[in-house]
Amino acid sequence: MLLKIEDPKVSTELKLIPKNHWSLIDYISVGVKGFPPGGLVGIDITSRCNLNCRHCYFRRGHNVSELSFEEWVAKLKELKRDGAALYICGWLGGEPLLRVDVLEMAKRFFKSNVIFTNGTQELPSWEDCTFVVSVPGTRKTYSYITGTDDKVYDMVKEHADRPELDIVVSFCITRQNRDCIEPFLEEWSKDVGIKGVFFEFYTPAKGEGTEMWLDWDERDRVMDRLFELKRVYGDFIHNSFQILNLMRSKRVRQILLDCPFGRVGLSLDSMGRQKFPCTLGPSADCSRCGCILPVFSVLLHKRSLLLAAFFAFLFRMMRDYRRFRVKDKPPH
Ligand code: SF4
Ligand code: SF4
Repeated sequence: MLLKIEDPKVSTELKLIPKNHWSLIDYISVGVKGFPPGGLVGIDITSRCNLNCRHCYFRRGHNVSELSFEEWVAKLKELKRDGAALYICGWLGGEPLLRVDVLEMAKRFFKSNVIFTNGTQELPSWEDCTFVVSVPGTRKTYSYITGTDDKVYDMVKEHADRPELDIVVSFCITRQNRDCIEPFLEEWSKDVGIKGVFFEFYTPAKGEGTEMWLDWDERDRVMDRLFELKRVYGDFIHNSFQILNLMRSKRVRQILLDCPFGRVGLSLDSMGRQKFPCTLGPSADCSRCGCILPVFSVLLHKRSLLLAAFFAFLFRMMRDYRRFRVKDKPPH
């Protein structure tokens, strides 16, 4: 998608903001000192969304307004001036691609950018970003959860089918969709050019019952299935074995007693104000959290785990590179 930036103020800002990149010094610094506090940022770039999902935490909040383009420029410059480690940013909402002009500018401030989208908008051709497209089920379940008709499911599939981009689908497991994990993997691994699927569980609000939330035993049974499926689908299931192990109830309940997100992460709402305790907002029930954030934050916070994850990543890169080279060789 080509951006049509008609506002001269916007195109001027784009020229003025230098692109932030990873450098060797950053890697050494993370290796020696660990991941810096605030290096993992989550920003609700908009308060609007065109869907109305049953499992949506955002709609529980009171984000009624959002900063303008100029105000976001000023906010991000302020973060930079204050010395925030602008390493990884997750762009959220609402639906972040409703503000593609702000994103085009704002992603320049961070070394890595992950855009969490519902996939109803055409994805911009940004090869320097990862897109995480939320698809909570196969056709019928998807329509039930998101309150949409069949056409939306097909449209999301079409938008996600961009093998040239780095696109991963996120599947938030609830009571309503736990039975469609297998058919979902079967369908999306064959039909759509995505890099894989990652799984997390639904996080309820404080005081909420088990209408959507799976209790710990139910959750562990799903985890058993995910382990089996990981042996079949390999890296197409994006959760590594290390992450899956940390997601088991015995491990994750320990992690949730003192969620490490606050030590590495920073969340801003759509008005640029800091949000506590994390991007899920104050109504989230931390003791039953199913989000991937605490597990991911443990990896970033504990240097031994961070290095293990880093070497596993390097190993995968080298293996994929070798496969690519073999495929690339002309037949004799
Ligand atoms: S797409 Fe995301 S922000 Fe929009 S309603 Fe669904 S869960 Fe909420
Ligand atoms: S446990 Fe951590 S990630 Fe989960 S809701 Fe609480 S602060 Fe957020």
